[in-house]
Amino acid sequence: MSRREEIETNLAAVRERIARACADAGRDPGAVTLIVVTKFHPVSDLGHLVDLGVTDIGENRDQEAGAKIAELDPATRAALTVHFVGQLQTNKARHVVRYADVVQSVDRAKLVGALDRAVAARAEAPHEVVEGVAEPPQKLAVLLQVDLGEGEDAGRGGILPADLMALADQVELTEHLTLKGLMAVAPFGLGEAGTTAAFGRLTDLGARVRDTHPDATVLSAGMSGDLEIAIRSGATHLRVGTAILGSRPDPR
Ligand SMILES: *Cc1c(COP(=O)(O)O)cnc(C)c1O
Repeated sequence: MSRREEIETNLAAVRERIARACADAGRDPGAVTLIVVTKFHPVSDLGHLVDLGVTDIGENRDQEAGAKIAELDPATRAALTVHFVGQLQTNKARHVVRYADVVQSVDRAKLVGALDRAVAARAEAPHEVVEGVAEPPQKLAVLLQVDLGEGEDAGRGGILPADLMALADQVELTEHLTLKGLMAVAPFGLGEAGTTAAFGRLTDLGARVRDTHPDATVLSAGMSGDLEIAIRSGATHLRVGTAILGSRPDPR
């Protein structure tokens, strides 16, 4: 089987899982966006994905992501929304805003400030064109990553729920960022009931954020192993890697 056929088969299976889970939950599959997480996979896979109708991809390491997006031909780049989903150091903010359309992993006040200044610098330096994008939007879309680990070691990064509202308010006070919603990674090893409870907490937090920030409608949750649970919990965006692209090549 060619690489393209392999991806096509896996993608069809994942789309079928999404369709079935939406039917079970009484949800419109059109309200669920599939983001294919392409980290560690070659840029040629992105071409296959676009050919197969994928509109959203996710990357979690700044250097790798920037290099891959820069390699795309303009038509492929223009067909994609690029989500950055990994841990981000503040000194990488200026780089990430050059290729990412959405940063999903905003988890602290310092990073909000760094991203805001990075978008401002991008706007003031028109020679520094965003890779592959003719005219970057004025504002960068961000999600706040929430820690669903309840203080346990199982947490997978993110801001603690107690601090979430203040961070949401801070984003809205910036000039160059726009708050689109929340993201979370389910803690390891919770099983189905525990994962359901964790995603339920995310859904509740999303509703609370929307009380004061009504446009923050995105809930990014669900990966290869738990996308059905995420759909039942109301996720609007799924981030799926392994189930579509296979196990990740060793990065080193
Ligand atoms: C890698 C990654 C995913 C995809 O995980 P799979 O289990 O391969 O589907 C989703 N979200 C984030 C933040 C990731 O880093």
